Amino acid sequence: MRMQTKLIHGGISEDATTGAVSVPIYQTSTYRQEGVGRPKGYEYSRSGNPTRFALEELIADLEGGVKGFAFASGLAAIHAVFCLFQSGDHILLGDDVYGGTFRLFDKVLVKNGLRCTTLDTSDVSQIKKALQPTTKALYLETPSNPLLKITDLAQCARIAKEHGLLSIVDNTFATPYLQNPLSLGADIVVHSGTKYLGGHSDVVAGLVTTNDEKLAQEIAFFQNAIGGVLGPQDSWLLQRGIRTLGLRMEAHQANALHLAQFLAQHPKIDQVYYPGLPTHPNHDLAKTQMRGFSGMLSFTLKNEAKVVPFVESLQLFILGESLGGVESLVGVPAVMTHACIPKEKRIAAGIKDGLVRLSVGIEHCEDLLEDLDQALAQLDK
Ligand SMILES: *Cc1c(COP(=O)(O)O)cnc(C)c1O
Repeated sequence: MRMQTKLIHGGISEDATTGAVSVPIYQTSTYRQEGVGRPKGYEYSRSGNPTRFALEELIADLEGGVKGFAFASGLAAIHAVFCLFQSGDHILLGDDVYGGTFRLFDKVLVKNGLRCTTLDTSDVSQIKKALQPTTKALYLETPSNPLLKITDLAQCARIAKEHGLLSIVDNTFATPYLQNPLSLGADIVVHSGTKYLGGHSDVVAGLVTTNDEKLAQEIAFFQNAIGGVLGPQDSWLLQRGIRTLGLRMEAHQANALHLAQFLAQHPKIDQVYYPGLPTHPNHDLAKTQMRGFSGMLSFTLKNEAKVVPFVESLQLFILGESLGGVESLVGVPAVMTHACIPKEKRIAAGIKDGLVRLSVGIEHCEDLLEDLDQALAQLDK
């Protein structure tokens, strides 16, 4: 089955008892048992709920996993995965992973004795140098945020296998529509369902899947033992979003490419970061491991001091955190998503003050282009 069809027919695409083509919202906490020790399949909704199960089967189908898991947020999902490790274990973490992932590690997991080294995973040679005897996993994000760097997932998975590490990939930016890390050798995939999968900026959710039965059992245990599960209403919303992921991603990336080309030739723009541009340093790698380039792009203004008035003069692009919804969003990483990084460290990582990040929505492309054009024109005033 091809991806577009899987999005519609994957998982559990109808209700077993009624034939309803949308699996109902089973808004229940518990289930009548047929006799002592004889439940009908569900016992208690933290351990399992049919609406959530349908979503979990769907993400497993889309990513090629054996089992899926839905959580109350992307970070709850990531936390459950990090529970696989114990005190003294060392993890290699991309230096531009989602800020909340780094905070989880730096402020919470360190208390449990986990240690990490951050590095630029788009340079695979750095990984081998950073390995320690206690290293247990590689944690990767590609394309990365906000510079859209690409990490070679197949090569990283090979290194991980050679050294007995797990490779874990946050696939939020690419989505299973454009990239399947498990098929490139990764062991575990995590998602913030809040972004492209939900797609309408109306739900916070997280997903995990793996193609390893033993890991799946362990993650199932943590999901139930810690309890950060996704509720039935949000599970339903997320499935509804995923059904149109293909159409939306095609529109997001067509718009993003068009805007990237416009910005790349604009005299007031310094650099454009979009993996779909042939000038992007990892364009060829992106072409081999992805089926498209997604809808995120960043660029720097030549006049860095004007970045705040520039984003504030945009009319259609909504100033805000998050990404992946149908509406276009704009952000200034230096003062928003990446403000907690010390300035020298941030600049060294290439996140300049004049950097603007766009989550390109699915509006008409010319309207988005005209909006950028008028805001750029105002820079002279
Ligand atoms: C948003 C995001 C997360 C965290 O997900 P939440 O649903 O906000 O908890 C993790 N990784 C990436 C890449 C994200 O964009």
